[in-house]
Amino acid sequence: MDFAFDEVQTLFQNAARDFATREVAPIVEEAEKKDDVPMELFTKLGELGYLCPGYPEEYGGGDLGKIGECILYEELGKISSGICSGIMVNGGLATKMVADHGTEEQKQKYLAAACRGEKIAAFGLTEANAGSDAAAIETKAVKDGDSYVINGSKFFITNGQICSFVTIAAVTDKSKGSKGISTIVVDADTPGFTRTKMEKLGNHASATSEMYFDDCRVPVENLVGEEGQGFKYMLQSLTGARISHSARSIGLAQVALQATIDYANERVQFGKPIGKNQDIAFRLARISTEIEAARWLLYRVAWLYDQGEDCRKEAAMTKLKSSEVAVRMAEEAMRIHAGAGYLAESVIQRYYRDAILYPITEGTSEIQQLIISRELGL
Ligand SMILES: Cc1cc2nc3c(=O)[nH]c(=O)nc-3n(C[C@H](O)[C@H](O)[C@H](O)COP(=O)(O)OP(=O)(O)OC[C@H]3O[C@@H](n4cnc5c(N)ncnc54)[C@H](O)[C@@H]3O)c2cc1C
Repeated sequence: MDFAFDEVQTLFQNAARDFATREVAPIVEEAEKKDDVPMELFTKLGELGYLCPGYPEEYGGGDLGKIGECILYEELGKISSGICSGIMVNGGLATKMVADHGTEEQKQKYLAAACRGEKIAAFGLTEANAGSDAAAIETKAVKDGDSYVINGSKFFITNGQICSFVTIAAVTDKSKGSKGISTIVVDADTPGFTRTKMEKLGNHASATSEMYFDDCRVPVENLVGEEGQGFKYMLQSLTGARISHSARSIGLAQVALQATIDYANERVQFGKPIGKNQDIAFRLARISTEIEAARWLLYRVAWLYDQGEDCRKEAAMTKLKSSEVAVRMAEEAMRIHAGAGYLAESVIQRYYRDAILYPITEGTSEIQQLIISRELGL
């Protein structure tokens, strides 16, 4: 696929790869062990103008569109899925609604600050009782004079503990169902806003939190776009986020494949490298084909997205394919490394723990199939 990148995209790919290798790789293991987000990466990427490659330059972005975002997340995904999570959410899901529907003031205050790494963004949709059925959210925002008073909680929020603001979905008119949901920005220093850390199986270098809104009063100017349109905005953001998410999955699948090829060539059993057994060689041949196919889907859908095409179906297909392929590759890597992969010191067990998240977030694999089948007219 690289041959199709233009000169600017190729330069960006080299720069992103260089950054990931030089700045991210040396600190991953420590961040994973400490279950901590290396905050300095946001600042460093912001200073370089790489933190939010998809947004216009006037707001501190790279003007490289979705293809540019995918290039960055593919490279970061090769090094650290967890670190990639926070950067990816800041650069897309959590800022997209402000970028598309926000006022100029909101763009300067939130989007531009997030692009520079001065503020960190989070996206708050999911709740304890509203996961796949996101329209079932219960967090309420009641208008009171010049403010919204927010009560409720959010679950599983990436960048939760480290965010400076979170764009949440809240019910502003219960009688209207999903058309009574609005998106509102809540600054993290708003009285009544608290958060607690959620412990996870993998992606330890990312922050995940439960958030609570207890009579949280925010100015009405923090409403993004129009009241009642929030659910639509969230779904639009999720389409773009599924493409970004796929880039990270494919990054992880590629490094897991390469590590497994290397191991299959070097590990000798029964007097020959284990990769000389046709069963192992064919399994890797097959999965490498699947990864390549997923990567083609990825850059095609990113291109469609950049053309302004409606690519809900293609984004769901790409997310379904890439997350499943990453999980399968991580499992193959574990089986082929066998005991060596199961050791805590092995990167293979990290790939395995990290990849298993991919069919869950940004809509589970079942939800992707629901979207695709609906788009097929079923
Ligand atoms: C690490 C992590 C980070 C996250 N980050 C964020 C974030 O930043 N912001 C945010 O808002 N959310 C975030 N999420 C939430 C994530 O999007 C949800 O976990 C996801 O949407 C699934 O919801 P659920 O976990 O409640 O599963 P459920 O919706 O309870 O689903 C359980 C199972 O039932 C299946 N299922 C449900 N409905 C159907 C159906 N109609 N047909 C077939 N099968 C169905 C699902 O596919 C799944 O297998 C994060 C989650 C995790 C784990």
